[in-house]
Amino acid sequence: MTNNKMIFIANWKMYGDKNNLKGLKEVLKFERKKIDKKNTIIYCPPYTLLSDVSKILKNSNIKVGAQNCHHSYEYGPNTGCINVKLLKNVGAEYVIIGHSENRFYDNDNIINKKLLAATKENLKIIFCLGETLKEKKSNKTFKVLKNQIRIGLKKIKNINNVIIAYEPRWSIGTGNLPKKSELINNTNFIKKIIRSIDKKGKIKIIYGGSVNPSNISELCKIKLFNGFLIGSASLKHNNFIDIIKKTTI
Ligand code: PEP
Repeated sequence: MTNNKMIFIANWKMYGDKNNLKGLKEVLKFERKKIDKKNTIIYCPPYTLLSDVSKILKNSNIKVGAQNCHHSYEYGPNTGCINVKLLKNVGAEYVIIGHSENRFYDNDNIINKKLLAATKENLKIIFCLGETLKEKKSNKTFKVLKNQIRIGLKKIKNINNVIIAYEPRWSIGTGNLPKKSELINNTNFIKKIIRSIDKKGKIKIIYGGSVNPSNISELCKIKLFNGFLIGSASLKHNNFIDIIKKTTI
């Protein structure tokens, strides 16, 4: 449990159909009880549900985010792609950029273009960073994180619109959590690099990777995070509520 203002992001990945909206309404009821009013909850459903989720969450304190965007700010002939203007148009206030599952296609420069496009549209950004298992095993974690931050945040002026999500890529969806010492070292390293860009130290850093109701209490003991990005466990509303409760109540 923590007394800090925390951020909880539900990333539904390529799951979530209209049935999951019932669960979302339960989370809304939970939030309306104001048990956790100091926290920010952000829902990132697939593109296909953004409109429905925005309607359900209208006039609530729960925010809506998209899971990705195209790097072009302008509309264009990019079949199957979604740019930041289209996201804003269906009620997204946040966008996840640089998620591990998209880093297979996107390099750091493309990710930087996405951040610039999102900034231009005044979308808040959830910027994901993390090393692969191969990079971790060859002691390249710091180098990788530093490059991801330096290139990803190039020319981004309004740094306060960015939330950094440290998500070791080998931890996402695997059930494997980093050791406490790894989490502390890597998060402190990210904070050090960020401080050279964000002098006021206002950027929030959250953790993501296999967070669930059973491990959240241990993760909370590491008092370095401003919140959590929750993938698979967020699809079941009871699990998501449980994670919030164990963190904050
Ligand atoms: C994620 O999708 O960013 C994530 C952390 O997934 P999971 O919680 O399933 O590991």
